[in-house]
Amino acid sequence: MRINFNVPPYTGKEFEYIKECVENQKICGDGPYTAKDNEWIEKKTGVHKALLTTSCTHATEMSAILMDIKEGDEVIMPSYTFVSTANAFVLRGAKVVFVDIRPDTMNIDENLIEKAITPRTRAIVPVHYAGVACEMDTIMDIAKRHGLYVVEDAAQGVMSTYKGKALGSIGDFGNYSFHETKNYSMGEGGALLLRDETFADDAVIIREKGTNRTLYKLGKVDKYSWISPGSSYLPSDMNAAYLYAQLQMADEINEDRMDHYNRYMSELKPLEEKGLIELPYVPKECVHNAHMFYIKCKDFEERKGLIEYLTGHDILPASHYVPLHSSKAGLKYTEFFGEDRYTTKESERLLRLPMYYRLTNDDLDEVVMRIREYYRFT
Ligand SMILES: *Cc1c(COP(=O)(O)O)cnc(C)c1O
Repeated sequence: MRINFNVPPYTGKEFEYIKECVENQKICGDGPYTAKDNEWIEKKTGVHKALLTTSCTHATEMSAILMDIKEGDEVIMPSYTFVSTANAFVLRGAKVVFVDIRPDTMNIDENLIEKAITPRTRAIVPVHYAGVACEMDTIMDIAKRHGLYVVEDAAQGVMSTYKGKALGSIGDFGNYSFHETKNYSMGEGGALLLRDETFADDAVIIREKGTNRTLYKLGKVDKYSWISPGSSYLPSDMNAAYLYAQLQMADEINEDRMDHYNRYMSELKPLEEKGLIELPYVPKECVHNAHMFYIKCKDFEERKGLIEYLTGHDILPASHYVPLHSSKAGLKYTEFFGEDRYTTKESERLLRLPMYYRLTNDDLDEVVMRIREYYRFT
């Protein structure tokens, strides 16, 4: 494909930092670059503690362990999300309960959550789709009144805010992804954000195979030993070094993506005004990070035609999630509470356009031109 859907970000400093790791023989977890990344996230978001992990999937699993999710517990989330959001809880024997999304943001409909709560409900997991925040005030209020945890799937939300607060810093837990498809990357990686000190000590132990090795390294105990169930959620410091090069340029990467987003928006506006397509909506409380630019076609068939048209012209667009409740595992481990009014219908007509750091205006304009052609818009 001449114009790809995603090109992983690269800033130029990555090699230098990785070389430093190799030369200093500091390549395992929790080295100097991991510390720098953690500190960057803590400063940026104001959370009590940030811990770099091997993925957002693993950060979500850590959240589930920390909350002591058990068989029979229920967790509420949207069906329109990545498998990891649900898997982390299913792995611990919980039942995942889906509620419908809002068609305007594709986020969980905050007004449907309360009805889905039962005595077994333990947590609400809002997913900030496309880096646009869920209605967090409402969600936090529901959680507080019912004594539930909130786990923010902020995989796509690094650098986004809701009423001035960083995504991932509002709920009890926040989960970031630094996968190569995300705005900032380390190949595979993520972070667990802890808003306050409640889970901080336990999280450090769980991430280090259930041991107090971190205390040992700080000289606070003279032997390290097994403290609790845990696993290996530390990324190599070489990956952390790659990420640090990108975090140092986070503003520049963000501005570059925002330029693309705004250009798509203004160039495609006339098609929306003619009723041919729909464009994304960002509530006024939300500052987003241009993680994604999507359009909505009339229906599945029209989208299929557009995908064929664009790929026929060497442009790679991407549809997105097949709702989890209709998947093979979903049928077994989940339940859709209430009516699926928008989840399936909206997911079938959403199409993501090429979006990445340093996408050129020429390439972007070509994508727009081909979309205009497909709709015979002159
Ligand atoms: C990318 C993504 C994940 C998974 O992130 P990994 O770091 O690959 O584990 C989870 N949830 C959402 C919404 C995502 O977009």
